[in-house]
Amino acid sequence: TFRALLTDKDKHGKVSSRVAELDERDLPDGNVLLAIDWTGFNYKDGLALTGRGGIVRSYPHIGGVDFAGRVIESTDGRYHPGQAVILTGWRVGEWHWGGFATRARVNADWLVPMPKGMSTRDAMVIGTAGLTAMLAINRLKSEGIRAAGSTNGPVLVTGAGGGVGSIATLLLARLGYEVHVVTGREEVHDDLKALGANMVLGRDALEASEKGLLKPRWRGAIDNVGGAPLASLLKQIEPGGCVAAVGLAAGANWDASVVPFILRGITLAGIDSVMQPFDARMAAWDRLTTLFSSTVYERMVTEAALADLPALSEDILAGRVRGRVIVKPSA
Ligand code: NAP
Repeated sequence: TFRALLTDKDKHGKVSSRVAELDERDLPDGNVLLAIDWTGFNYKDGLALTGRGGIVRSYPHIGGVDFAGRVIESTDGRYHPGQAVILTGWRVGEWHWGGFATRARVNADWLVPMPKGMSTRDAMVIGTAGLTAMLAINRLKSEGIRAAGSTNGPVLVTGAGGGVGSIATLLLARLGYEVHVVTGREEVHDDLKALGANMVLGRDALEASEKGLLKPRWRGAIDNVGGAPLASLLKQIEPGGCVAAVGLAAGANWDASVVPFILRGITLAGIDSVMQPFDARMAAWDRLTTLFSSTVYERMVTEAALADLPALSEDILAGRVRGRVIVKPSA
């Protein structure tokens, strides 16, 4: 048997979760059986556990969109028993049972081997959030937003107190960018400065405005919140700048205007970590091995138990979770 947080929907449509002992034969099909060491807890997991956002396809379900562990059995030549691996995305934890369990059975194509020198705990401190932050930075770079140079103004990170935002802050700072961050929470100001933020702003920096353009303040941005703040952000990007759109914590829709695009030539670049091909994932994980500092970031890490996740789901959707939450399902 194995232990899992099982999420189910009753006949009234109410979604709830409980820790349960399940049989390995209940696991979905796949060619690799894994023992999960650590699993991450993300905004999307909050949606799945509360039955919101149409994330889960069928019930009963096991959530958890990212995890790290060791191979127990594999019929795929790329993976062998004992090997440490990471899984993020591919709709695992949404359409396929995920990481809120001590076991998972998955498709080998979804895995990446653990980069040399990285522990399974560090891999989940980084998790989908860190992978996404890395992909967003790579995209900004390919759009010409570089760290040093006279033409390069600061880069803004929104939702900076959350998982993606806090790791993006750390990575940008370590790469030498001038980093500005927006947070709605006073209590994370010192943490964000410790990660390397040069300036910490309140959410009023992205207040709604009737104007088509505002004074340009940032060369680039990593936006985790979408919604109305994104409309304001686009109006404050310097000519030729780029916003990497990552998340929707403040909403999926915004009042769009072509004005910043046609008068300032800015770019809005979408980031999708879920369906990234293997090579792009490996390259990002390898880069994270040297760039991420688990020592500097540890202040943003909270360890939780499977049983804590239903309550934490409400917290993460309300924007109350600081940095990364990681779970050891066997504890
Ligand atoms: P998270 O830890 O909950 O971070 C989101 C942060 O956004 C919160 O901590 C809060 O930061 C801010 N926020 C929350 N509600 C807000 C509101 N109403 N208005 C303004 N700001 C608000 O979530 P996460 O796991 O880092 O994910 C962040 C977003 O990226 C989510 O929407 C997630 O679905 C998305 N995501 C996308 C990808 C991808 O591949 N594109 C991958 C991972 C995550 P402050 O309190 O500091 O303001």
